[in-house]
Amino acid sequence: MSHPKSTIRKKPPKQLAVIDVDRCTGCEACIEVCPVDCIDRIRPDAGATSFQRFCEINWDRCIGCKLCIRLPAKKSNPYELLVCPWDAISMVPAADLPEAVARIGGPPHYAAEHRPRLEAMARRQAESLPGSSALPG
Ligand code: SF4
Ligand code: SF4
Repeated sequence: MSHPKSTIRKKPPKQLAVIDVDRCTGCEACIEVCPVDCIDRIRPDAGATSFQRFCEINWDRCIGCKLCIRLPAKKSNPYELLVCPWDAISMVPAADLPEAVARIGGPPHYAAEHRPRLEAMARRQAESLPGSSALPG
């Protein structure tokens, strides 16, 4: 898939957005606002029912801007505009991403199909932080 809004990050962000799969409905509201197109709705896998849809964040490209959580308030409208209707997104320190993946939730078929890939991506982020002593693995 091409990502017209994609950017090359100059350095890894300190925090990255993580979606709680147990809360996500795949509504795509977060996809609409992400400035770098790093959120995708993932293909339902073999075990999914037609009601199960999830979105996923590509941490290799997330810039940690938090726009998928809340849009900045304007002077004319001081109320915060929350993006995710299900409060499914939180910011996690990049160093803690591998632990966050373990708590990401989702039904067993989701975990079986997607977690190994997410774990590898999370490790990559943690290891790319300045001063990281983690060994590639
Ligand atoms: S924090 Fe910003 S870059 Fe990362 S997923 Fe959310 S909107 Fe996209
Ligand atoms: S806005 Fe929330 S519920 Fe909708 S796709 Fe994004 S994370 Fe899932």
